[in-house]
Amino acid sequence: MPLAPPPLPRLELTELTYRYGDVLAVGDLSLEIAAGECLTLLGPSGSGKSTALAMVAGFLRPQSGRIRIDGRPVMRTPPHRRNIGVVFQDAQLLPHLTVAENVAFPLRMRNAGRAERESAVHEMLALVRLARHAGRYPHELSGGQAQRVALARALVFAPRLVLLDEPFGALDRQLREEMQIELRALQRRLGVAMLHVTHDQDEAMVLSDRIAVIEDGVLRQVGTPTALYDTPDNAFVAGFIGENNRLPGRIDSIDEDEIATIVLPGGTRIEGLAVGVGEGHRCVVALRPERIALAATSAAEMGEGAYPATLREIGFRGNHLRLVLDFAGQTLLVMRPAAAPMAGLRPGEEVAIAWQPHHARAYRPEAGA
Ligand code: ADP
Repeated sequence: MPLAPPPLPRLELTELTYRYGDVLAVGDLSLEIAAGECLTLLGPSGSGKSTALAMVAGFLRPQSGRIRIDGRPVMRTPPHRRNIGVVFQDAQLLPHLTVAENVAFPLRMRNAGRAERESAVHEMLALVRLARHAGRYPHELSGGQAQRVALARALVFAPRLVLLDEPFGALDRQLREEMQIELRALQRRLGVAMLHVTHDQDEAMVLSDRIAVIEDGVLRQVGTPTALYDTPDNAFVAGFIGENNRLPGRIDSIDEDEIATIVLPGGTRIEGLAVGVGEGHRCVVALRPERIALAATSAAEMGEGAYPATLREIGFRGNHLRLVLDFAGQTLLVMRPAAAPMAGLRPGEEVAIAWQPHHARAYRPEAGA
């Protein structure tokens, strides 16, 4: 059998840069999206997500870098010829057209015949569960329905790529969560490649095969949701994704397994994993609340690897407990399953805590941290 070369990425961004005057909105951004993959650009407001998306769509021309779709440069291709579907936060439906006519619109622009239009629109409306609403006008739709029409319109012409800019940002929480699950199912079923941007980490987790975290236009880490959650590369990603305790410290020594002894401000020594920070340097230790074991006993009784702490508050959250501790002069949040022995704990009691050293990740402090 001949050896097939690896497939080309559906979308390839190479060192894409865009400045508004002196403001660097996107700096040297390189990313690939495979056919059938959903990749989310995740970052705080103002981090350059919309600018990056606008360049891919063709609304903005990058000052440097390259954009390729299926290996072909598209920098000189106008937006309507890039074969990309786009969904914005606001559905942007044409008010004087029915649902079916709105969905048919991109097919009309492409001069598709009537029979082809009708069957494609019918199929798309069934997929987004709006077949019965085909004859309605946009003002007769709820927010969620309007956004489903926008989705159908972005998918109906079998685009190479779909871009989504905060697509559910205007919907209330419950509807947003339903729509996220629906969209993910639809994306998998159609096998369409998606580039999605949001500042909402939960949405990124639900929708994405991979997430690219950006800060001030610069890519900080790209990986699967699990990889970003479990093994953040830097303090920014550790702080941005999920909840984390952050303890300031200094690296005293590092052994051959990268396990560091870290000195906290009060002199307490703890163990953690050094991630890109060397001996003698200041660090910030990120430790997830659910990675901390806790026992209602003194640390001395628990032996090596256990640390003493004092319980300050205990919050019952149905399926788990949120415990606030004083530890080495710092505040530490611990999350445990709501098991009976824990529920007997009282504020003021001494407890023992422990963690696996590789779960306490010591990073170089970020600017301003
Ligand atoms: P995001 O989508 O992540 O919120 P944007 O891409 O909208 O980020 O913005 C990135 C940066 O570029 C921000 O600092 C923003 O203030 C700036 N910016 C965006 N649009 C313009 C514009 N039209 N003129 C000047 N600066 C802009």
